[in-house]
Amino acid sequence: MPGNIARSIALSALALTAACGGTTAADSGKPVVDAAFFPLQWLAEKVGGPDVTVEGLTKPGVEPHDLELTPQQVAGVAEASLVVYVKGVQPAVDEAVAQHAADRGFDAATAVPTLEAVHSGEEEEEHGHEEAELPYDPHLWLDPSRMATLATALGGRLAEADPAHGAAYKERAKQTAAALTTLDAEFAKGLETCANRTIVTAHTAFGYLANRYKLDQVGIGGIDPDGEPSPARLAEAARIAKEKKVTTIFTEELVSPKVAEVLASEVGAKTAVLNPLESPPQGGDYISGMTANLTELRTALGCQ
Ligand SMILES: [Zn+2]
Repeated sequence: MPGNIARSIALSALALTAACGGTTAADSGKPVVDAAFFPLQWLAEKVGGPDVTVEGLTKPGVEPHDLELTPQQVAGVAEASLVVYVKGVQPAVDEAVAQHAADRGFDAATAVPTLEAVHSGEEEEEHGHEEAELPYDPHLWLDPSRMATLATALGGRLAEADPAHGAAYKERAKQTAAALTTLDAEFAKGLETCANRTIVTAHTAFGYLANRYKLDQVGIGGIDPDGEPSPARLAEAARIAKEKKVTTIFTEELVSPKVAEVLASEVGAKTAVLNPLESPPQGGDYISGMTANLTELRTALGCQ
């Protein structure tokens, strides 16, 4: 619909003008991009480069699923030129975008094909987390090929919002997509020939990674890491882990390793960290964090 596109460009231009008014970041005259959590922040910084000011809504080390926004952050969302988020990960962000930035939201889940949410059992119904009710799994950033698609889409969206720097956004988007495509090829090659293809994970975050590289994910907890697995779910995970001769139970930094440790000792496996990158890896970025994940996976799965 050309009419709609024209309207959205007009609105973006208006938003840009509005953003130049108030906050400190906007005083530089650059468009402000609010990024909901780490991988999106990394992507916005890569593609936006020196032409934007990127503000992360989730502080490093905070489990993003639990995020609450301060009134200042909500005001920031209202003034931002673009808000990059994944609908369904953080209800507080979804609400702020819907109320204050409906025409300036870049929902990554609408820019790439999504996968159905994997429901791991009754615990999700008991706890009733918003995320568990999603029709899709939101952890799409754990597939580098989808991140490459997002880089290109974000470059287009920034060029639309700030046409004066359009060529620069598109060039950086191209370079970022190329780096992500290289990472995707490294994963495909590194996970091509493995003794085992089953990954048992604490938080069911690796559905896109498993789908892309033909692994089978057995999530102990739900898509939301807060859910305590039921004894039935734990017994089922133990049964699969034994049957598939799993040697490693994966846990992560921001979630208690207790459940993974109990399961590992029950099936005679060890634990290792697989990072869902919902927060920046220590001293690294998205590419180095994913590369570390590839190394962990290759060791755990006995890949050649
Ligand atoms: Zn998650």
